[in-house]
Amino acid sequence: MAEQYKTVLFFGAPGAGKGTQGELIGSVPGFFHMSTGDMFRSLDRNSEAGKKFESYSSKGELVPDEVTIELWQDYMNQRIADGSYDPNTMLLILDGLPRTVNQAKVIDPLIDVLAVVHLNAKDKEAMVARLRERALKQNRADDAKEDVVRNRLDIYERETRPVLDVYDDALVHDVDAINTMAMVMSEVLSIIAPIHAAHLSRANA
Ligand code: AMP
Repeated sequence: MAEQYKTVLFFGAPGAGKGTQGELIGSVPGFFHMSTGDMFRSLDRNSEAGKKFESYSSKGELVPDEVTIELWQDYMNQRIADGSYDPNTMLLILDGLPRTVNQAKVIDPLIDVLAVVHLNAKDKEAMVARLRERALKQNRADDAKEDVVRNRLDIYERETRPVLDVYDDALVHDVDAINTMAMVMSEVLSIIAPIHAAHLSRANA
């Protein structure tokens, strides 16, 4: 079996800031940010996979596990092949996967989870407001409609939150998501920078 990707999971409800923090951290050398939402949005809208994505995301629903994981594996192989992700020296920041307990089980042999950063947003109404603001800025159809946003948050509670229980409590770090971008980033970095340094020193040993 190929070596597992050394991974930090970014976990949290839609609107908690996984994507924003993921992008910031992904700009720091040594971290490779991979967002399944971005992966789906980059699909050609007229392709089979693109149409499938649209049919689920427009209702705020999750794309079926099998399709998601197959696309993710192809995506990772491409990023390794084009040199943007080097599993030996970089930490994979996985944002938006796993989103179901089944996905967690299926990808378990492929990833070595070194930490789970839980961007915890306790104020649900603040999340709804953030999502709607972002929808306007980024032209995202899924978050422009109130009922779709609420469905996304309900699905998170029902299907995604239980994924936290899959991982050892010691791996899970709670970060208050309702804080300034810089404070959240500083907290996240304080968790993951030492993990990356240890990974790199093993690679160089
Ligand atoms: P996000 O940008 O992470 O909120 O994802 C946008 C949409 O992409 C979600 O509402 C889902 O339709 C789909 N999606 C992203 N990640 C996954 C996943 N791991 N499993 C299933 N669907 C996903």
